[in-house]
Amino acid sequence: MTTNSLNPVAVYIHTPFCPSKCGYCDFNSYAMSGDIMARTTAATIKEIKASPHKGRPAKTIFIGGGTPTYLPTDQLLAILQAVTEIHPPTEDCEITSEANPGTIDFPKFDAMFKAGFNRLSLGAQSFQTHDLIQLGRIHAPTHIVQAVQMAKSAGFKNINIDLMFALPGQSLKAWQTNLETALSLGTQHLSLYCLTIEPNTRFYRHNLKGLLHLPDDVKQTEMYDLAISLTKDKNLQQYEISNFAQPGLESRHNLAYWHSEEYLAFGPGAVGCYLTDNGKYRYTNLKHPEGYSAAIEHNQPLHFESETLSQEDNNFEKIMMGLRLNEGLPTINLDLDPKGLQKTIERNWIEQSDQKLTLTKEGRHFCSEVAILLCP
Ligand code: SF4
Repeated sequence: MTTNSLNPVAVYIHTPFCPSKCGYCDFNSYAMSGDIMARTTAATIKEIKASPHKGRPAKTIFIGGGTPTYLPTDQLLAILQAVTEIHPPTEDCEITSEANPGTIDFPKFDAMFKAGFNRLSLGAQSFQTHDLIQLGRIHAPTHIVQAVQMAKSAGFKNINIDLMFALPGQSLKAWQTNLETALSLGTQHLSLYCLTIEPNTRFYRHNLKGLLHLPDDVKQTEMYDLAISLTKDKNLQQYEISNFAQPGLESRHNLAYWHSEEYLAFGPGAVGCYLTDNGKYRYTNLKHPEGYSAAIEHNQPLHFESETLSQEDNNFEKIMMGLRLNEGLPTINLDLDPKGLQKTIERNWIEQSDQKLTLTKEGRHFCSEVAILLCP
């Protein structure tokens, strides 16, 4: 079926459950608990065990969500065990779980580390109580600090903190405080995302009613530039538009996406992509835990949508993803529009050198526009 069936590959597992739904969230997540969790975990394990790529080594394993740490620990570990049985981890495999600071304790982190997880990604978002309440997060600022301490005590040496900026009512000073607090915790990685208002969210409806007081574009740019300068001072190098890491501890799993590599995926709503003799095949699993579990239980089709990417789609995806990286986008084998390229250079959005295109500081604010201009 695949053209590279023994190459190590990135593996993603989606766990869709959360204690409650955050106001800005459009991820495939559900405020559900009880029997459906165990049923979905069993279905996910069954899906993993039936992997058509069985035996292909995992170079990264990433359990995301949703909130993986909302699952009972035995279920989370059972998922990891199934993955490592079917897709044996390479010696240096990066094994990450997302974690919500409101759903963890030391025994959980301890058990996770002992089971083989070696990286944590903590959804902190802000260190200000009023932001967390407004966002609908279930944790308090102190939970974030405690989570980092507990993770370190459990043995984790590769920890990411997610923060969001341009929150309703957020000042530059408040954002600076958040950044400085996160940096003071001495984690190896930071992911810093600008809040986007997505349809079908509470924030979207509130924004339409004029209830959200969002920072304007100028303030957002100031916030982003501040992040770049403060992280640099702490030896966290920016390697992607939103990501900063100690050298050597960049997220290898996410790099697989940005390099447009293959990734296998399991769980409700998970999106996977692998090479076939006909090209790159991308699939999305059924999204709702009930429908997903029922399909697995009754051996029914699992893919909600699937396609073999056209050469044009593949080219656009490579440009869109690769541009995000500071290392630059290799232009070899890419199809580029010369006029569009000229425009991006004239607007000072792109620098061209050694068969690579790199976004300038200015260009980082226009990544999507640049990708569209570059595509023929
Ligand atoms: S914890 Fe994450 S996945 Fe869950 S509702 Fe909040 S933003 Fe969405």
